[in-house]
Amino acid sequence: MRNKFPGTCYRCGKTVEKQAGNFERYKGGWRVIHAECVLEQRAEKEAAKRQISDEGMEKVWKWLTN
Ligand SMILES: [Zn+2]
Repeated sequence: MRNKFPGTCYRCGKTVEKQAGNFERYKGGWRVIHAECVLEQRAEKEAAKRQISDEGMEKVWKWLTN
């Protein structure tokens, strides 16, 4: 959901102008994040997932080649 009020981005710590980001429910309150930061966060998560699967493949490869 678009933020109706300005706030501080929980990812980069900079001000999020109203309508410039998203707000999320968090621990009984609200937090805001830039629209760009949502995309960056998503990219990081994808990268982390890929890394885990790369490590998994490495283990399988070692098991096969030992
Ligand atoms: Zn941000």
